[in-house]
Formats: sequence, structure tokens, C-alpha cells
Amino acid sequence: MAVQTDKREKTQMVTTKSTAAFKAACRVMPGGVSSPVRAFRAVGGTPRVIAKGKGAVLTDVDGNSYIDYVGSWGPLILGHADERVVAAIDKAAAKGCSFGAPTEAETQLAELIVARVPSIEMVRFVNSGTEAAMSALRLARGHTGRNKIIKFEGCYHGHSDALLVQAGSGAMTFGAPSSPGVPAGTTADTLVLPYNDLDAVEAVLKTHAAQVAAVLIEPIAGNMGCVPPNTGYLEGLRRLCTENEVVLVFDEVMTGFRVSPGGAQELYGVQPDLTCLGKIVGGGLPLAAYGGRREIMEKVSPLGDVYQAGTLSGNPLATAAGIATLQALAEDDAYEALEAAAAKLAEGLRAAAEAAKVPTYHPRVGSMMGTFFSSAPVTDHATAGRCNTRAYAAFFHAMLDRGVYLAPSQFECLFVSLAHTDEQIEETIAASAEAFAAAAACR
Ligand SMILES: *Cc1c(COP(=O)(O)O)cnc(C)c1O
Repeated sequence: MAVQTDKREKTQMVTTKSTAAFKAACRVMPGGVSSPVRAFRAVGGTPRVIAKGKGAVLTDVDGNSYIDYVGSWGPLILGHADERVVAAIDKAAAKGCSFGAPTEAETQLAELIVARVPSIEMVRFVNSGTEAAMSALRLARGHTGRNKIIKFEGCYHGHSDALLVQAGSGAMTFGAPSSPGVPAGTTADTLVLPYNDLDAVEAVLKTHAAQVAAVLIEPIAGNMGCVPPNTGYLEGLRRLCTENEVVLVFDEVMTGFRVSPGGAQELYGVQPDLTCLGKIVGGGLPLAAYGGRREIMEKVSPLGDVYQAGTLSGNPLATAAGIATLQALAEDDAYEALEAAAAKLAEGLRAAAEAAKVPTYHPRVGSMMGTFFSSAPVTDHATAGRCNTRAYAAFFHAMLDRGVYLAPSQFECLFVSLAHTDEQIEETIAASAEAFAAAAACR
């Protein structure tokens, strides 16, 4: 791997091939992408079309390289094209890509998950985080015989109809569909409450508990930027759910294996009834899972009558990548190394912003963090909404010009991987000094 070690300066990057490739993409795919945020709409400009990745470095089709903090939106905690993961996929592919029949590898991955995630006793594999959340919800409803669910403003659980909702006005609102094509009836049972507000949950359960099947939450919100839970918030949710016999579902698609070996539930010592996993668990291939208490998981078909299935679920390539990734993360100092690298980056960015006199807020839990252009702390969707998006766009482009690839929206997390070197983190901090100065002009 040829890692650039020179200081990253603003270069006049040639992006003609990216531009042409993206133009061709736009003719045959809506917005030129397979998932909307990739299109750079929140920051403007034309996305770089990626040719390859190795370690912490992405290379585009023009040959420009970038230190990458997106990591495919979370899965790549070992970096790009990790040799152990690639070898595992190669080996599995040579033996066949999919059988639609049980394999030993599924059991091996399930055992790794059960051993590591405190609340999971049994697990079902699916193909995406969307599927995991959608299926966990069906299971919670099937288990309780209740229909309503509580979710939180700013939390993302994939794009299934019942979860694609936004809050209306007022403290307690039933969700309104946040996309055309989602019938109001599908979201009528979804209650949307503000994040980090335990009283709001308590108030709803006081009147609606008998109808509420589940409370679904990102234990560390990562889809409105990085918003950690207030002290006692998750514990409070656990208590309220237990008292009211509501299924507590942690969507750990992002936080699972990211913030500790056992995810946010291990970090905060709070056990949900069901957990959604995705991203890291598939090592960069399409694999996700939901799991939890045996008593509830035994309700899943064919053991129980809550139906859920998948042609490619638990396929050998994805399970091989997942196993290799989880095994690599079991090495002694993996999480200490992630913590040290992420702490250094967060502190460096904070200091650079301060030096540039830009009001920013830098929440971080382990190797996931945020950069909010805000003078006040961001604790929920409303406070996230007050951030300066023009300043982030300027910052993002200034970083991109200097070879640092951040999420093209401030309401996404920045991820540090085990592949990021000290040098790369120092280069990133050096680049940010100039980038924050560019952002300072955007009030
Ligand atoms: C990414 C994400 C999802 C959706 O996963 P997909 O694999 O994109 O469907 C769900 N929940 C959370 C918390 C996520 O971060």
C-alpha cells in the first residue's frame, strides 16, 4: 500500500473521470447512486467515484487518494480490503456463493455473537439493517400481541414503511410518513418521541402501555450525527419497558462491535430484550441480524409462528467476512487502539476548530464521533437541526480537496478504523486547521 505521508495541502485535484462516470451513472440510476446520501446533496458538488480502497485510504477513478472516515458508513472497522477478510471471502467463494441450506459458518458466527453481545441468546441472520429492524419489530408485535411502537426523532432504523416516519408537532405525536409511497395507515401505530427525554416515554406509557409492543432506539444515536444517551436515559427506558411489559429493542446496527466488543449495551450495562445488528457484523458484505432473549427468539418461524425468511440470508461469503472481522476484533488491544486513535483525532479537530474560532461540538463514543457546527451541545433532533449546514459543507469540501474523505453530511458519524495510522490522523488534523478556517467564513 502506498500511503501518502506528506502533509495534505489543498491540491487542484483532477476529477474529470469521476465527473464523467457519475454523469453516466445518473442516466441509468436515480441520482446516480444506489443509496441517496452518496449523491452529496447535503454538501453540493459531484461525488467522487471510487475505484478501490486499502487500509484507511480510498482511491477514486482519477487516481486521487483520500484518508477515509466513512468506512462504508460503519462496517469497515478493520479498514478496506483487510487481508484476513479478503482471504476468508476468497476461500468461501471458491466453495460456492450460496446454498440456501444450513452451513457450519452460520453457527460459528452466531456463536461469536452470542458470546459477545450480553443480551443475545439466539440470533437470526438477514441481509440488511433495514430488514433486521423491520423483523425485530414484527417479532415484538407477535410476542406481545400489541401493535404500537415507540421510536425517537432523529433515529434511523432503515427504510421500512412503519419506521420511515417523522414527528409531527407537539410533544406526543403519531408519526406522519416521511416519504410519499408510505401509506398513513402503515405509520399510524408508530409513536415518535424526542430522543433523550425519558419523561416523554413515561407519559406515553402511562396512557398507552397496553397497546405498546416495543420501544425501538439507537442506544447511541448515529444517524443525526453522533448523539450519545444522557446519563440514566437507557437505564430509565429499561425500567419503563420492564414495568409495562414492553419489548426494548436496541438498534445496534451502527454501535454493535463498534463501541465495545458487546456494543452499547455492554458499554452502558443495559440489556435490551432484542438487538439489531448490521454493518460490522458482515465485515463489509451484506449481512445483518436480530437476536435476543431465547423466550422471544423462539417465536420466530419455523420454531414459532412469526414469519420471516431470506433466500440469501446467512450466505457463506457474508458469514465468512463477518467471522474474520469479529475474530480480528478479538485481538487483545483492538478496542484500546481504536479508543486512542479516535481520542487523538477528536481532540485534534476540537483544538483546530477552536484555533479557527469556529463554534463546534465534538461528541464521541469510542471510534464513532461527530462534528457539529453548533455553539450549543447537540442532544436530540431539535438541537441537531440548529447546526450550521453551510459551514459543514465548506468544511467538507475543504477536507475533500486536501484528501480527507468525511461523510457528506454533518448528520452522519465519522468512524476511525484499526487501519488508521498515527500519521494519517495527524495529517487529518493538519488539514482540518485550514478547513475550519474556510468554514469560519460561513455564518
Ligand atoms: C445503517 C443503519 C440501519 C440500516 O441498515 P441498512 O443495512 O442500510 O439497511 C439501521 N439502523 C441503524 C442504527 C443504522 O445505522
